[in-house]
Amino acid sequence: KSIKTMHGNFHFAKDKDEALKILKGITGTGKTIVKGKSITSEEIDMNENLEQWGNTVYETDLGEFIVQSLHSRPMHILAPAVNIPKEKVAELFSKIANRDLPPDPEKLTEFAREYLRDKFVNADIGISGANAITADTGSVFLFENEGNIRFATNAPDVHIVFSGIEKILPTLSDGFRLLEVVSRYAGYLAMTYVSIVSGPSKTGDIEKTIVYGAHGPREFHVILYDSGRSEVAKDPVLSPILICVRCGACMYECAVYPITTGYWGYKYMGGIGIPWTAYISGGFEKAAPMAFTCTLCGRCVSYCPMEIDTPEIVLRLRETLNEKGYIPPFIKSMVETVMRDGVPY
Ligand code: SF4
Ligand code: SF4
Repeated sequence: KSIKTMHGNFHFAKDKDEALKILKGITGTGKTIVKGKSITSEEIDMNENLEQWGNTVYETDLGEFIVQSLHSRPMHILAPAVNIPKEKVAELFSKIANRDLPPDPEKLTEFAREYLRDKFVNADIGISGANAITADTGSVFLFENEGNIRFATNAPDVHIVFSGIEKILPTLSDGFRLLEVVSRYAGYLAMTYVSIVSGPSKTGDIEKTIVYGAHGPREFHVILYDSGRSEVAKDPVLSPILICVRCGACMYECAVYPITTGYWGYKYMGGIGIPWTAYISGGFEKAAPMAFTCTLCGRCVSYCPMEIDTPEIVLRLRETLNEKGYIPPFIKSMVETVMRDGVPY
């Protein structure tokens, strides 16, 4: 209701098919689209679909731009290209630039800045996720350090926000509380940029007549995505996964993640990615090997600002996987060996 009051367009998608139908209805074909980092968009394979419909998509977060150009996948929720060495980035950017670029992070960042600048200005549509959407004002909070999200959501004529329903917070003040938590646990004193977008750009400067589309977008769309979240919310053991603020603190401290990076995951990775894979994006089969790789050590719990008890959730998921017959073969054979020989190998 508050999004509509602010002259935005509100859409609700219960699953991937609905989300893609809504998205296609807004974007159509033949558009240039700039995107800010959004893991929720990975759930619906947004880039691949937008391109299939005849659009051109540019990821504008530097890490995501590297991952997109390599046709790879993000390896960390905050640092998607954390696994790519600077020499590989130099090789990649040299091909795009058609000139030799040194493996120097400063020079490589400068190239990305130069390459993407006109894409922002000439894009028809900007797509972002949301760190929070506040119910009382219909405002979308966007936290970042690079400045690309601000550019991508401000320069084009149309801004589309694609967000899970779990990002809704009751009030504008709650959005600021979230900001403090996310920045501290992501390791920053403060985020460099905080954008709060409440509807399309507007002015009333000529005879107090309100005109939409002053300097920012004329059209503002929010697509709220469910895909299993409302079912998870009903379960007292599982529901804490919905308050994950994606700060990434648990991954830095995890016993398994530093060795496996994003390969320990599907769309969502790491320990918290296990229940997200099982219940939101991926399914039990994909989540099963992940669930049995977690050591249940509990280090993630002590570093989580939201005190999410990932091992407890993983244990519960293991029971469900057992009941439903999704025990991975390597676990089955290990159990059989222990029962027979008294040792796992
Ligand atoms: S309990 Fe699992 S997810 Fe948490 S730190 Fe240990 S191995 Fe990682
Ligand atoms: S589970 Fe906790 S520590 Fe990990 S990303 Fe979510 S909020 Fe941060």
